[in-house]
Amino acid sequence: MKSEERAGDGMKYLICARADAKRTIPGSVFDKSCSRCGARVMIAPSGQRSLRTMAGLKVLCDACFVPAPDDRLMNAGAPGQLEEELRHVMPNPWRGRN
Ligand SMILES: [Zn+2]
Repeated sequence: MKSEERAGDGMKYLICARADAKRTIPGSVFDKSCSRCGARVMIAPSGQRSLRTMAGLKVLCDACFVPAPDDRLMNAGAPGQLEEELRHVMPNPWRGRN
C-alpha cells in the first residue's frame, strides 16, 4: 500500500491507496492527488514523512501503479512504521464524502 517505486524513468513514486478505499490508517491525510490520473489519495503518516524528506517524490495511486520488472519497491517511512500503521487500520471515514 505504501511503497516507493523506482521505475525505469528514474522517478520515485509514493504509491498510495485512493481516498475512497474501504480502510484507512489513523493520521492519514487526503489532500493529495495522483500525479498521473488526478484521483485523490490518502497518505499515511509514513508516506507523509517520505514526501517531506525525499525531494522529487511523486504521488501515484494504486490504480495507476503497474510494477515493472526493474522496479525496486521499498516501504515508506522508518523500519517497522508501516507494520505499526497496518495494525491500526480502520474503516475510512472519508469515504462517502462527495
Ligand atoms: Zn492514479
